[in-house]
Amino acid sequence: MADVLKFPVGFLEADDLDELSVEGTSFRSLSRLTSQRRERALAAGNLALAFSGWLDEKFRLPDVDVPRHHDVTPEVAAALVRNAWLLGERPIANMVNLLEAHGVRVFSLADDCHELDAFSTWHKERPFVFLSRAKSTERSRMDAAHELGHLVLHWQGGLREGRTHEREAEQFAAAFLMPRGDVLAQAPRRPKLADIIRAKLRWKVSVAALVYRMHRLGMITDWQYRALFVELSKEGYREYEPNGVPPEQPQVFDKVFAALRSEGVTLADVASELLITPTELRRTIFGLVSVPAP
Ligand SMILES: [Zn+2]
Repeated sequence: MADVLKFPVGFLEADDLDELSVEGTSFRSLSRLTSQRRERALAAGNLALAFSGWLDEKFRLPDVDVPRHHDVTPEVAAALVRNAWLLGERPIANMVNLLEAHGVRVFSLADDCHELDAFSTWHKERPFVFLSRAKSTERSRMDAAHELGHLVLHWQGGLREGRTHEREAEQFAAAFLMPRGDVLAQAPRRPKLADIIRAKLRWKVSVAALVYRMHRLGMITDWQYRALFVELSKEGYREYEPNGVPPEQPQVFDKVFAALRSEGVTLADVASELLITPTELRRTIFGLVSVPAP
């Protein structure tokens, strides 16, 4: 079995890993996902849990500070989280680092899970977010904010595939990245597409997301909204993001591995403590991070 699975014998002989529960996990594209893909993603998630537990034993990392709400609208919840995190209405420079600073463990999804956008879960009072690496930074930031929405609003569990939960997470994400007051004050009036392509850099969101938000806030009419989207699609900006922003790198793992390196501990050493191969550790856990070769 070890040969076929390319996992060390020790891994197969060890106690069962802690497992993420399907019920408590947000899978946006659940219906599109085969059960095999879902199991793969969850299995990668379980390795991430194991690594996270290992981190907790060795390092003092940021405490969990993610508010949980219910019976509030997504727009209000986004404002409450911003308040709790002292963000005011300022744009968010780096979503991944913001989540990390508040105790969320951010991991990447394995490369062969492209059908899956992102997912998140609470596990033993610790929030986890898994992001796809196959997207533009703008989309990835929106995914991160969307998953934060699930963590804040849908923490009570239950299958999160419902349309209502998805809509709530989307609204939370838009409000969190593009706060109402800031957009009203800063977004261009009677904008042409070129104005929006410039303006989106403030919030580091996709052009489409900003157009959508401005429409929702009543800054552009239905007619303008439709015209902008026709133009957007014609230019191919639904697939490719103009005026792209640089990718966001997690910092926690970089710091952890820098600290370990200074003690002469390599990625291979960590993998062997977790009873997995270095390749597996790198692939399933560190896709987002620039971990130097062991
Ligand atoms: Zn979702």
